[in-house]
Amino acid sequence: MKFVLSCVRCSKTYPGLDRRYRCDCNGTLDVLHDFNELSLSTADFDARRNSNNPLDRSGVWRFRELIFPMGDEVLEECVVTRGEGNTHLYEARSVGHSVGLPNLWLKHEGENPTGSFKDRGMTAGISVARHLGMKQVACASTGNTSASMASYAARCGMGAVVFIPEGKIAYGKLSQALAYGAKTIQIAGDFDDAMALVQTLCEEEDIYLLNSVNPFRIEGQKAIGYEIMQDLEWKAPDWIILPGGNLGNNTAIAKGLLELHAIGLIDRLPRMAVVQAAGANPLYTAWTDQRDVSPMRADTIATAIKIGAPVSWRKSMRGLTALKGVVTQVTDDQIMDAKARVDAAGIGAEPASCATVAGLQRLVSEGVIESDAHVVGVLTGNLLKDPDVVVGYHTGSLDGIQIQRANAPVVAPADVDAIRALLRS
Ligand SMILES: *Cc1c(COP(=O)(O)O)cnc(C)c1O
Ligand SMILES: [Zn+2]
Repeated sequence: MKFVLSCVRCSKTYPGLDRRYRCDCNGTLDVLHDFNELSLSTADFDARRNSNNPLDRSGVWRFRELIFPMGDEVLEECVVTRGEGNTHLYEARSVGHSVGLPNLWLKHEGENPTGSFKDRGMTAGISVARHLGMKQVACASTGNTSASMASYAARCGMGAVVFIPEGKIAYGKLSQALAYGAKTIQIAGDFDDAMALVQTLCEEEDIYLLNSVNPFRIEGQKAIGYEIMQDLEWKAPDWIILPGGNLGNNTAIAKGLLELHAIGLIDRLPRMAVVQAAGANPLYTAWTDQRDVSPMRADTIATAIKIGAPVSWRKSMRGLTALKGVVTQVTDDQIMDAKARVDAAGIGAEPASCATVAGLQRLVSEGVIESDAHVVGVLTGNLLKDPDVVVGYHTGSLDGIQIQRANAPVVAPADVDAIRALLRS
C-alpha cells in the first residue's frame, strides 16, 4: 500500500484501507501518500485528455496516481465514473470588472454530472466503498452531497441513505436525491444534527459514510486544483478563492496543490481565500481570533454553506496556513447581488457559489487582493439547483434581501402591437 491514514490532530497512522473516518483521539484523518516512486510528468496528464480510456477521460481519475493509487487493474474493477470534472474555466471579464479585478477566471464546478463539485469527491468515495465490498452508503447533506451520492450509488447498484435537514433544502437538490432512488430521511433538526446522527449510524451499522469527513472524498476533490493547473498550463494563479461550509473543498484543493508542488509538477503555489456567509461563519471568527473553531447555529440564504460545525476545520486551517490564506465573510445581500452579476454574465451559479464573487469584491476593496492579480474563483454549484431563490429574487418576493438587479417577467396581452410597444419602452 502506498498510502496510510494519518490523524490530523495527533499524527497516529492507520492502514490505508481501514474503514474508519476518525482517529481514536476523534481527530479527522488524511490520506498520506508516498509519492517517492511516482514518475509522471504534466505531459502525461495532458496526453490523457485525448484518450478514450474512461479513467483518462474523467477529470478526477486522470490524476489517479495522486488520488487513489491502486493500479489500473484494481481501479478498472471498482471505479464508478460519470466522466466528472472537465468543467469550464471561464474568462469572466464583466464579473471581474464589477469587483475591480480585470483578470478573473471562474472554474464552474456546477458543470459536473449532478451539478456540483461534490461529484469529484463522490466518484472517489463510492469507488473506495466498492473496493471495500460495501453494499450501502450514507451521508448527511444540505443537498448537493446527497444528489451526488444518490446518483453514483444508483450507477453501481448500491443502497443509498440520505439525511437532510428540515426545511429550506433547495428543490433542485431534493429532486435529485428522490429521483435517483435514495432513501431520503428528513430529520427534525439542522445539517449539524443530521451530520452527528449519520456518523453514529455508520459507526454502528454496515454502512459506508460518504460525507467529506471521509478522507477519500477529499482526495477526489483535490482534482479541482489539478484541473485548474492543467487549464492554466501548470502555471499557478496568484489566488484561488472559494466558499467554505463544511470546509472539505478548500482542504482538498490546498492538499492537492501542496502535494503537486512537493513532487515538483508546479513550481509556484497560489494563495487561497475562503469566503463564508456572515450567518454561518465559524471559520471566519476562529481564523480572525486565532483559536479553534467552536460550533454555532448557522443561518444563510446560501443553504449549501449553512453549516455551523464544520467537520474539516482543522485540516482547513492547516491548508490555509500553508497557502498564506485569508478568510472573509459576506452578507446574504452581498451574495445575492454577486449572484445576479454571475448569472447575468451568462455563467450562472447557485447562491453559495456566488459567495466567491462577493468575497472577492470585499478582498479587492480592502486591498488584500491586488487589482492586477490573476485570480481563479470556484463556482461550486449549478444555477438550477435553487430555482426558487432565483425566481424569488427577480420577482421581488425574497424576504429580507435587498434586490438591485431584478429582471422580472413582464405580463403582456397576446397582441403584436402591444408587445412592440413594450420592447421599445
Ligand atoms: C458543499 C458545497 C459548498 C461547501 O463546500 P465545503 O466543502 O462543505 O466547504 C459550497 N457550495 C456548494 C454549491 C456546495 O454544494
Ligand atoms: Zn489522533
